[in-house]
Order: sequence, then C-alpha cells, then structure tokens
Amino acid sequence: MASIRSATRQLCRRLGARVAVSDAARFGASFDGSKLSFLPTAVVRPRTEADIAVVLKLANQHRVPVTARGAGTSLTGSGSPVRGGWVLDLSRWKRIRIDAAAGLASVQAGVVVADLHRAAEAKGWFYPPDPASKNFCTIGGNIACNAGGMHGGKYGVTRDFVLALRGFLPTGEVVTWGTATKKFSSGFNLRDLWIGSEGMLGVVTEATLKLIPLPAARWTLLMAFSDEIAAFRAVRALFATRVQPAICEFLDRYSVQCAEAASGKTVFAGQAGRPVVLIELAGTASEVAEQKKIVLAWARVQAVAFREARHRAEAEELWAVRRGCSAAMFKLADTKLNEDIVVPLRSYSKMVRFLVKLRRESGLHIPTFGHLGDGNLHVNIMYHRANADERRRAEHAVEELMRGVVALGGAISGEHGIGLAKSPFLRLQHSPAAVRAMQAVKRALDPRGILNPGKMFEVFKVWQHERVSAVCPWDHK
Ligand SMILES: Cc1cc2nc3c(=O)[nH]c(=O)nc-3n(C[C@H](O)[C@H](O)[C@H](O)COP(=O)(O)OP(=O)(O)OC[C@H]3O[C@@H](n4cnc5c(N)ncnc54)[C@H](O)[C@@H]3O)c2cc1C
Repeated sequence: MASIRSATRQLCRRLGARVAVSDAARFGASFDGSKLSFLPTAVVRPRTEADIAVVLKLANQHRVPVTARGAGTSLTGSGSPVRGGWVLDLSRWKRIRIDAAAGLASVQAGVVVADLHRAAEAKGWFYPPDPASKNFCTIGGNIACNAGGMHGGKYGVTRDFVLALRGFLPTGEVVTWGTATKKFSSGFNLRDLWIGSEGMLGVVTEATLKLIPLPAARWTLLMAFSDEIAAFRAVRALFATRVQPAICEFLDRYSVQCAEAASGKTVFAGQAGRPVVLIELAGTASEVAEQKKIVLAWARVQAVAFREARHRAEAEELWAVRRGCSAAMFKLADTKLNEDIVVPLRSYSKMVRFLVKLRRESGLHIPTFGHLGDGNLHVNIMYHRANADERRRAEHAVEELMRGVVALGGAISGEHGIGLAKSPFLRLQHSPAAVRAMQAVKRALDPRGILNPGKMFEVFKVWQHERVSAVCPWDHK
C-alpha cells in the first residue's frame, strides 16, 4: 500500500493535472454498468502515448494494478478496479478518420460507437457492430469485450471488423498488431488475442476498422407467434431458406407483456402478450425486394399475425416494442441480471423448455429477448435487491442458467465477457487445461500481473458484494 502511495506521488509529479485523486473522480471510476464498486487510488487521463508509457512503466516498477477504462458500461464488472490501483481513462481519445476510398476507419480508443456510425454513414459506409449501449460505450471497450449487438447474425461482431490495433503491452512498450489491409498473414495473431481479453493483455489506443457499404434499402416486419417454440421453429425454417436478415430479434411473451404494460398499447390487436420476432432485411433495393417475397410467404405460413413497415416511420412504430421492453422490466423488480448467453440453432427449442423450468423453479420473473440471428439471448433475471430470499433464488438461477447453457452446447457469454460477474462459471465452459493455457498467456504478456488483475480467472463472490446504487445515464435503456 505504501508502495502504491509513493508510486502515485511519482505519477502526479510526472503527469500533473492528468492524474485525479479527488473522491469524486475516484468514485466515478470505481464501478461500471455492473455497479460492483472498488475505489482506485487515482484516475489518469492520458493526453499522449508518452503519458501511457509513463503510467505502465511506473505501474510495473511498483506493481500497481492498472485498469483501462472507456465509458464504464460493462455489465460484468470487467471495468471495476477490483484491486484498486490506477484507472487509465481513455474516454477523451476521440479522433475518427474515415478513408472513404478504402472503406476503412481509423479510430482512437475513446470514440463512442454511435459517433463512428454517424461518421461512416456520412461517407456512405456502414460499421455494423451496434451494442445497445452504442450511444455511450467506446471502441476500446468494444474491442476489449468483443462487443456484439443486433447485426451480429448477418455481419458479425467487433472482432470481424478489426484489421489492426495499436496500443501498449503491460510493460509500457508500444506495439501494433495487423495492418490497414484486408489481408495479413505475418507472425502470431496477437491482434485477435487482444480482442475480447477484457483489458488484461494490453491497452488499445487506436484501431483500424473495416467498413462495409451502407445498405441502400431496409425493410422491417414484425410477427407474433402462438408460443416461443413456434417462434424459434419458424426462425429455423427461415434460415433454411438461406435468407439472412440483417436483424432478427426475438421477444418472449413476458418481454412483450412488459412493453405492452409500459406503453399501454397492444402490439397486435387480439394477440396481447404473444411472443414476437422482428426482422429487418438490408442490402441493395433488388436484394431486399427479392428476400422480402420469401419472408412474406414464410410469415403467412408461420405467424399468427404480422405487420410490415411501408416506410421508415412505420418501421419505427414496429421497433417500439423491442426498444421499450428492457426498461419496462423494472416494473417487475428493481434489479436485473442481464445475462447474455448463446445457444446453437439446434438447441433453440430446448432452451425455451429450459427457461420454463428455470422460471418455475426460481419463482422469479425471467423475461427473455435477444438476437436469434446468432442465438444470443438476453435472459433477464429480475429480483428485489432488499429481499434476501429473492436474491438467493436469483443467485441460484444464474448458476443453473450457466450450467444449462453449457449442457446445450452454448456459451455463458456471447458479448459481455467474463469480468467479475461470470468468473465463477469460467470453468464450466473451459477445461482445466484450457484455463491453464489462458493463464500462461496472461503471465507471458503481463509477467507482473498489473493489467486488470482479479478478473476472469479468480472466482469473485459476486453475491457477497453490495452493488452501489449510483445512477448512470444508460440505466434502464
Ligand atoms: C444498457 C446497456 C446495454 C448494453 N448492450 C450491449 C449489447 O447490446 N452488446 C454488447 O456487446 N454489450 C452491451 N453492453 C455492455 C457494454 O456496453 C459493452 O461491454 C461495451 O463493450 C463496454 O464498452 P465501454 O467503453 O463502456 O468499456 P468499459 O466498461 O469502460 O470497459 C470494459 C472492459 O474493457 C476494458 N477496456 C476499456 N477500454 C480499453 C482500452 N482502450 N484498452 C484495453 N482495454 C480496455 C476495460 O478494462 C474493461 O475490462 C451494454 C451495456 C449497457 C449498460
């Protein structure tokens, strides 16, 4: 501790006002979207790469934990500095350069994803990864968590768009992985190792991202189904036609009921509380027109009701149920555990049955929605924070869910990562040998263990830690 204090004094001497040690600054950086809070000793806001080198070299010398930070929207506690130390805040690194001829974007780590979307679209290009937190979260955080979103099924996730990374090894040395080219086959691929490593292997300062042509046409369809199994079977049948919707969102009956109760409107007259699937096709006008015929024929056979959007304003109306459901869940209970499991297409129906059992056995509300294009479901376990019995049942339900998903051949996280919240379940997903291999990589790249320590491999007792009740701008979104 004495060492951290003296290292922090040295840091303040070297970087001056770029180091904040006020209670307000430290509290603000103590938690992320998970609300698991741990006070750092200082928050550093580097202006240059030389500043970052100073931070990491001093941290190495004095073994000070360093947690990189973008917007702090992570839902797993991966951005919470569980071992204290210094938070390295990159949220002011905001430069965007679009190479419109090559279809590339060169962006600094602190760029907010929605700003990149706008910059690319202004030049006729499209960056598909679109986490629901896109108005807040940063590219650096997206790379560290391999963030996804609604476009994942057709276009892929963050990893599929990263060509090159620039940043720092934990030792304070600058490196680049990959180049601004669409092909690269030179040496070990540490670029992909950094992606999804939750800031434990390196600090990203800049990324070169691939863009795709902005789709000229979009078409939206909302359908209701008799029940969840019918919805999942129908979607499997659609995929078998080789139509790839740009977006294929599913809401179970409980999610629909939440949205309907909040808006006071029934999504489909006479079909209140039915599960729905929202499909968006995107591409050239002729591609969309062609696929639309197939989708309409399919919807007539499979759905109990459907409505297509004739123009963008109508599409927005159809989107209202999807956009409204998540916030509306807080009418059920004050705390939501937003799990982000993934199941393979062949297990969709088994997953529905599993959720019925989980709801019955836990006695909790568990509205579920998600991205059927890639099997990534947000299972929302709702409980009242002050109710110890509900809290215990929620804890058990999370564990059962993780076990169930692995048994169905799926993944415990599709896009949020492991952090602290899922650390108890890492070994359900990976064998002891696989975890040892990951730990060996961590030791090789970060021999003094300074970058984001205490995450992923160490089992964190989430339920023994109170979550702070601070309100974030993205809460209830
Ligand atoms: C309302 C809401 C909706 C969400 N929806 C989605 C969704 O649809 N899809 C999805 O994938 N996620 C979603 N998330 C989760 C979250 O937004 C993502 O995980 C996002 O990628 C985090 O970005 P951030 O900038 O907030 O990173 P932070 O929370 O600041 O950090 C997250 C992790 O990245 C590391 N990190 C941050 N910047 C860097 C850097 N420059 N170099 C190295 N490591 C770094 C941190 O150390 C930490 O481990 C949602 C969150 C909220 C609150």
